[in-house]
Amino acid sequence: MSTQNATAEKISLYQPDQQGLIFPEIPDFESVADERNYRKKHLVAACRAFDYHGFDYGFAGHLTIRDPEFPELYWTNPMCIHFSQVRMSNLILVDHQGQVIEGDYAVNRAGFVLHGAVHEQYPEVIAMCHAHTVYGTAWCSTGRPLDMISQDVAAFYNSHVVVGASSGAVAVEEESGLSVAKAMGAHRGILHQNHGLLTTSQHSIDDAAFWFIALERCCQQQMLVESTGVKPQLLDDKTAAYSREHVGSDYIGWLHFQTLYQHFEATQPDMFL
Ligand SMILES: [Zn+2]
Repeated sequence: MSTQNATAEKISLYQPDQQGLIFPEIPDFESVADERNYRKKHLVAACRAFDYHGFDYGFAGHLTIRDPEFPELYWTNPMCIHFSQVRMSNLILVDHQGQVIEGDYAVNRAGFVLHGAVHEQYPEVIAMCHAHTVYGTAWCSTGRPLDMISQDVAAFYNSHVVVGASSGAVAVEEESGLSVAKAMGAHRGILHQNHGLLTTSQHSIDDAAFWFIALERCCQQQMLVESTGVKPQLLDDKTAAYSREHVGSDYIGWLHFQTLYQHFEATQPDMFL
């Protein structure tokens, strides 16, 4: 958090025009070590956010962010550690073959199979989230994309996809990860049929984590609407595209997440141990 820099370039309507106000700002990094530290802290906070939203399911679920210096390596949460217990000191650094390069804990095999394949296939993707959530997994069984029923889901207009490849089969074989990676394209949100949700980001782990939370919520809202039996009014394409542009950017995902980050920074200082 800092006061808005008078010379900072405005990239969103949400940034205040009035100068000198306290508002989250993406930091400038003086060194690659600073950037790594920032990425790791925000990865831990993303794990705490997954706990906060009840996204845990045993050891399922993995979040990754590329190392800023060695992009062929990524930081992730350790296997069999609850999201609420992830902290700076137990993160692991892993390569695309699933070897732990730094850290004491094992990596989730399904995690590296999926995330390694995506990070390998899409060099521009720097962060990715996956978990077995109730509504996301349930909705993924329909094999249908989300309808544009709200401003919230418009963030996924033309940027989410249903992937049927390797659906329902536990992603422990490397070909499985590759088939999902090839099918997902450049989409932000992936509904892996009979499995669960994935999100990717070219911006930050904050962005990937927030849109994961949003995607799960959109699946819940879609199911609630469908349960009424009433046909919803849908956004037209032009409105959905407009909302996508203004409330669905990478920056907006990052900005939303700062609210959560500050909450965990204040209430869960053990995440920095
Ligand atoms: Zn999974």
